[in-house]
Amino acid sequence: MSARKSLRGAINAHCKSCIYDREAAGTWLAQVTLCSVHKCELWDVRPTTDTIPESVIEYYGVSRSELSRLRLKSGLYGGISDQTGSVESRTKGAT
Ligand code: SF4
Repeated sequence: MSARKSLRGAINAHCKSCIYDREAAGTWLAQVTLCSVHKCELWDVRPTTDTIPESVIEYYGVSRSELSRLRLKSGLYGGISDQTGSVESRTKGAT
């Protein structure tokens, strides 16, 4: 069995180690989804989820318009419709 990580797994692990604070609100995946460091080279390919509880969104003070931007609007794994605000496709990458 290979000990090599997949690229997806490596990015997920890197983002988690970068931002996850277990004392703060939300899972590691929610926290990475809400990452606001748009200049980061991994931002477009960071793992995301479309299921973040309202309590977590409120904890970070994320507005609806900002939330649309943060959720891979133009990323590789789907995103949120600008017109309806609904999820256009399921996100991938969270394992
Ligand atoms: S996208 Fe965000 S969480 Fe991921 S490495 Fe960059 S700054 Fe860290």
